[in-house]
Amino acid sequence: MIIGVPKEIKNNENRVALTPAGAKELVKRGHIVYIQHTAGDGSGFSDDEYVSAGAQILPTIEDTYAIAEMIMKVKEPIEPEYGLIKEDQLLFTYFHFASHEPLTKAMIDSKSVCLAYETVEAPDRSLPLLVPMSEVAGRMSVQKGANYLEKPLKGRGILLGGVPGVLPAKVLILGGGVVGTQAAWMAAGLGADVTIMDVSLPRMRYLEDVMPANVNTMMSNEYNIRDMIKDADLIIGAVLIPGAKAPHLITRDMLKDMKPGTVLVDVAVDQGGCIETCKPTTHENPTFIIDDVVHYCVANMPGAVPYTSTLALTNATLPYAIQLADKGWKQACNDNENLKPGLNIIQGEIVYKAVADAFDLPF
Ligand code: NAD
Repeated sequence: MIIGVPKEIKNNENRVALTPAGAKELVKRGHIVYIQHTAGDGSGFSDDEYVSAGAQILPTIEDTYAIAEMIMKVKEPIEPEYGLIKEDQLLFTYFHFASHEPLTKAMIDSKSVCLAYETVEAPDRSLPLLVPMSEVAGRMSVQKGANYLEKPLKGRGILLGGVPGVLPAKVLILGGGVVGTQAAWMAAGLGADVTIMDVSLPRMRYLEDVMPANVNTMMSNEYNIRDMIKDADLIIGAVLIPGAKAPHLITRDMLKDMKPGTVLVDVAVDQGGCIETCKPTTHENPTFIIDDVVHYCVANMPGAVPYTSTLALTNATLPYAIQLADKGWKQACNDNENLKPGLNIIQGEIVYKAVADAFDLPF
């Protein structure tokens, strides 16, 4: 198969859909890989590395779309790319159609085949191509929180791990899924006093089994949250209710009960946030302060660490890309039950119900 990897053109997107290692695997299997000039630069992979891996470099995005049977991307195509997409071309990337009507209509019109990373789904309902980015954001949330707890950045001026003779900081994590678990590992590793709150007892039983002694679990309810926020130094929002907006577990009135300089990192901000006062921010301007409480609410946290994020994402996407290249999308989706729900639009027809429902379009 002929595979094309364009350079991402969405603002501030430095990830790339294929690493030189991934290109080598595909070339080894007899596929032809074209990489747009400088597509890997933002993640630290030069054109030369791709060439050494057996890929070929194309000068422009137009050339890349024109030649490829399968386009591998990271972000959804944006308007300047719509006209480059060809009938029957397979697009393997994040789409998030349900929140973007013009994109959905453009992809219907293109008559391409859209296989969305975010709806590739395992039988246990986990989403294997979303997990890596949650892992990155979870680990990063503690790094960011520790940083903003420093006094010059308006935090409490407390070191997460304390020092001999001085108690460590208290970290409260709302939601013990992928983000929350990774955050807990990081905070615990730095020596903080960590509490994870969740509503799932089986999940908390699991966490108690695997976490070190400085991590405890507690049932998430309003009473317990109100009690815990009074002492917390860093609060991380990591709640997800699949298919719904995040519930506001911390409301505006609760900020007055927190210590001045408390830091809130609401990772769930991309689903509306689990802290009422959190509004999406950017890496250029990541924080704001309300009632002396520092809010960090960057909606695309993994974007700040493109090297790690690209490797984490492509570790997960490459096995699927290989199956798609080896067998073609029809056979690959037939043979792999995880891939099948990834199909969102096939040659002008929406085949994923939630996308059709979002815009009242035929399914
Ligand atoms: P997940 O499904 O693995 O975990 C969510 C957890 O929340 C589950 O354990 C669930 O039981 C728990 N939960 C549900 N209701 C709760 C409640 N009322 N109180 C406490 N816990 C509750 O999800 P995840 O992969 O960890 O993702 C968490 C959030 O982070 C999502 O909104 C996701 O979109 C977001 N995210 C954001 C970024 C970013 O850059 N900002 C990056 C990746 C993921």
